[in-house]
Amino acid sequence: MGIVRNIAAIAKGMSVTFREMFNPTIVENYPDGPGPTRGAMFQERFRGMHVLQRDESGLEKCVACFLCAAACPSNCIYIEAAENTAEKRVSGAERYAKVYNIDYNRCIFCGYCVEACPTDAITHGHGFELATYNASSLIYRKEQLLAGTPAHEGANAIFSQYENARLVPNK
Ligand code: SF4
Ligand code: SF4
Repeated sequence: MGIVRNIAAIAKGMSVTFREMFNPTIVENYPDGPGPTRGAMFQERFRGMHVLQRDESGLEKCVACFLCAAACPSNCIYIEAAENTAEKRVSGAERYAKVYNIDYNRCIFCGYCVEACPTDAITHGHGFELATYNASSLIYRKEQLLAGTPAHEGANAIFSQYENARLVPNK
């Protein structure tokens, strides 16, 4: 009986193999494929490189509350807070993140920071091309994580003032 059971198990396993042999082969033609992802395919829920979001007026949503850093199990978020002033308003609240770094050497893309954020300032984007030979380049700065400036940026005098003063251009 044991032999019959073993043969049945092998036949069952091989049936999967033979079935797959006649299915069309689907491969991702990355990095030579079309589109912005160069042929890579991923699900909407894919957790890629973070994005620091802006509100509809172009101000940064991050209010430097440090909750994301506290929730991070890898201790890879570094924030320095600063006060908004009448002359230089960066976020809609009292404070903003003057420095916001994420160390992708340590990040495990768990999403806890996204869950912890009370203002939806930090989200996972779909960026995935993080591989590098230089570990120090895996520490991403706020300027690399910030969402693109809104189309009406030029109309917002305060926002533009801040943008013009930035040392590192937005990616
Ligand atoms: S995804 Fe997880 S590990 Fe990465 S920064 Fe957020 S909380 Fe930390
Ligand atoms: S990203 Fe969100 S949780 Fe983190 S400091 Fe900014 S506002 Fe707070």
